[in-house]
Amino acid sequence: MSDATRQVGDVIGVRLTVLGSGSAGNATLLQGLARPVLIDVGLSYREVTRRLVSMGVSPDEIGAVVITHAHGDHTRGAALFSRKHGVPVYVTPSTRAVWNAPNVAGWGSLTCGEASDICGFRFTPFEVSHDAAAETLGFVIKTVDGAIGYATDVGVVTPSLRTRFRDCSLLVIESNHSTDLLEVGPYARATKARISGSRGHLSNESLAEFVREDLGRSVRCLVLAHLSRVNNVPEIAEMTCREALHASGREDVRIVVSRQDRVAETVDLGLWVVAPRHRLDSDRQAVLPF
Ligand SMILES: [Zn+2]
Ligand SMILES: [Zn+2]
Repeated sequence: MSDATRQVGDVIGVRLTVLGSGSAGNATLLQGLARPVLIDVGLSYREVTRRLVSMGVSPDEIGAVVITHAHGDHTRGAALFSRKHGVPVYVTPSTRAVWNAPNVAGWGSLTCGEASDICGFRFTPFEVSHDAAAETLGFVIKTVDGAIGYATDVGVVTPSLRTRFRDCSLLVIESNHSTDLLEVGPYARATKARISGSRGHLSNESLAEFVREDLGRSVRCLVLAHLSRVNNVPEIAEMTCREALHASGREDVRIVVSRQDRVAETVDLGLWVVAPRHRLDSDRQAVLPF
C-alpha cells in the first residue's frame, strides 16, 4: 500500500506471505509501510502476478525484487516482472554474473554482511550453505515491528545462521524433506546425496534440532519453506516441528506451512490503524499477536 492510497482508518502493518515455495518456484511478499517487496520470483511471471492479485496487490505496487540466489526456482519470473513493472532487482554482483545479467529495469546491489534499506525494510544478507554457483543468501530483515529471519535453501544450520536468527520475531526457514522419505524415495543415489549434503537442503529433522537447541526466545512464528513434494508431506513437516517446539516448552510459537501450489497464510508482525495526518508513530492503536 503506498502513501497515496492510504486512508484514515485503514489497517496497515508489516506482513509476510509466502506466495509459493518448493523446488518448482519460490516467491514471498513482504508488505510494510512503504511499497511491498518480493523476495525471489521463482514462479512464472504469469503465476506470481496471479497470486499477487489474489492477495489484493497490484504488480505495479511492488517496489523491489530481492534475489537469494541464481537457481531457477528463485529467479524464473524475476527479469520479466522487473521489465514489465519497472522494478529494480537486488542481487550480489556474483549472483548477477552467474545469472548471465538478464535485461531488467534496474539493478540494486547487495553485499554479504552489509545492510541495505529497501522500501523501508533493512535487509542484511549473509551467506548460507547451499550449492548455487555464486553465494546463496539468507536475510535478517529489520522492520518497525521486529526482525524477520529468512533462509529457504540451507544444507546445514551454520553458527552464523544460528546467531543471526536468535533475536528475530519471525523465521522463514527450510523444512525440505523427511530423511526417511528421502531414503526410500525414487531419486537417484547421487541426487539423494546432493539434497541431504551440507550444501543441499535442510531436513525436517535438522530443522527440529535447530528448534530444540537454538530457537531464540523472541521467535513467535516459524514459516516452514521449500517443502519437497516427493520427499515430504506438509503434515509430517509440521508435526516434526511441533514436537520439537513441545520438547523445548515453546508451544506458544505458531507454525505456518508454505505450499508450492497455493498462497500460504499471511503472518502479521503488527497491525496499525492509519490516523489523521499519518502520525503513525504516535497514533499506533493496536498491536495484535500473530
Ligand atoms: Zn537453490
Ligand atoms: Zn530453491
